[in-house]
This record gives sequence, structure tokens and C-alpha cells, in this order.
Amino acid sequence: LLDALADQAAVAIERVQLVADVDRAKLAAEADRLRSALLTSISHDLKTPLSAIMGAAGTLKEFAPDLPEQDRAELLSTVIDESERLNRFIANLLDMTKIESGAMEPNYALHYVGDVVGTALNRARKITGEHKIEVDIPPDLPMLKLDPVLFEQVLFNLLDNASKYSPPGSTVRVQGWADNGSVMVQIMDEGPGIPAQDLERVFDTFYRVRKGDQVRAGTGLGLSICRGFVESMGGTISAANRTDRPGAAFTITMPVPTEAPDIDNRGEET
Ligand code: ADP
Repeated sequence: LLDALADQAAVAIERVQLVADVDRAKLAAEADRLRSALLTSISHDLKTPLSAIMGAAGTLKEFAPDLPEQDRAELLSTVIDESERLNRFIANLLDMTKIESGAMEPNYALHYVGDVVGTALNRARKITGEHKIEVDIPPDLPMLKLDPVLFEQVLFNLLDNASKYSPPGSTVRVQGWADNGSVMVQIMDEGPGIPAQDLERVFDTFYRVRKGDQVRAGTGLGLSICRGFVESMGGTISAANRTDRPGAAFTITMPVPTEAPDIDNRGEET
């Protein structure tokens, strides 16, 4: 009987191994597929701005003396804008690698979130120039323990998206509030919003909702970086659609550190 059981066990183990091998093969194939999809996407994102830069620079080199001033200025703008886009993409890729390798080490200090929002808005001014920006961050919010560089980058990416995906002239709202031991910062726009089934997937690396979004300057990296950064600081980030009108609403939730001094100190500090 023991021998029979041992035989059966051996057969069962063999079968499990067989299944495991098949799964491993499937996983490896899936990883390969993903890797080549990523490479295609990265190459596309690098090539598009590079072709534009090369085209504009080539035209300038060949025809500059004969071109009207306005055409020259436009070609130069293309070179500058597309270089900025390349630069952003590469910076995003590097951030992503840092998050994935676990090398992300936040540099914590206590900050008023309104101050960080102010810096991010300043930095994003060029991008948000065609939008009205409404900021409502009460000055009496508790201080947060955060890395201002990372937090600013998160806000910057959200402001960038809000203006990219909503019509010029519309309003982007940034509001903050405290509730239940957390501080929330929300960025809302007046664009088309995000289909319900994509609300969670927009945080996936390289995920983009609409085919048409491919033609907009974007990488599908911004939101996954946001999530990586926010989580590395102990917070969460979520996407929703506005309830009062069409538009997307992204909410960052950060825990209020227990040792945070309360707002009454603010006046003495400044
Ligand atoms: P991208 O570089 O494509 O903007 P993100 O990771 O920042 O990459 O965003 C992923 C996708 O989520 C975008 O391609 C877009 O389809 C969608 N998305 C992000 N923000 C918004 C928004 N404010 N309104 C509508 N769609 C958005």
C-alpha cells in the first residue's frame, strides 16, 4: 500500500511540476510580450519628438536665411518644445526606474500643503497658461510629513493632465481639506472625465484611455509615477469623475502625522 501511495504521490508531483512548467512558460511569454510592447511604446515616444526636432533643425539649417522671421521663430519653438517633451519623458522613465528598483527614498520634512501647491502651480504655469486656475486650500490645514520635491512632482503631473485633457479656457480647481486624520488635495478639471472601467487602470504604467490621447504629448507614465511617489510617502491617490459636471477629479490623501504642530503656530512662524 505504501508503495502504491508513493507511486501516486510521485505521479501527482510530476503533474504539478508539469502545470508549473506550463505556467512558467506562459508567464515568460507574457513577460516577453509586455517587454516588447513597452519597448515599442518607449521607442515611439522617443522617436516622435526626435523626428520633429530633426525636421525643424534641418529646415532651419538649410533655409534659415531665406525664411521669414515668423517661420524661423516657429521652427525654433518646435525644437525647444519637443526637446522639453523628450526631457520630461526621460525624467519620467528615470523616476519610474527608481520607484521600481525600490531606490525611492523620500526626504521628509513637515510642510504646509498650500506652500507645496503654490510652488507646483508656479512651475506648471507655462502648461496651465490657457486655463483658469482656482485654488482653495485653507491656510489652517495641518502640516504634512512629505518630500516637497516628490509631492510637487505629483501635483505637477496632475496639473499637466488636467490642462492637457480639458479645453483651453476651462477651469482647473485645486482644493484641500482635512478629515478624519488625513489631508486631502484634489485636482478637478472640466474635460471629458475618465470612463468608469478605466478609473483604476489609468495608474498602470503606459496605460492611456483614448486612442486619440496618443497624439497628445504624453507617455502614460505620469499617473503611475504619481501613485509610486504618493505611496512612498505613506499616502494614497485615486481617480474619480466629478459629480457636479463632466470632468476628472484626482484625490491625494495624506495621513496627518501625530507629531505635527497645529496650525496656530503658523502666524508665529512667518
Ligand atoms: P499621459 O502621459 O498619457 O497623460 P498619464 O499616466 O498621466 O499618462 O495618464 C494616463 C491616461 O489617463 C491618459 O493617457 C489619459 O487617457 C487619462 N487621463 C489622465 N488624466 C486625465 C484627466 N484629467 N482627464 C481625462 N483623462 C485623463
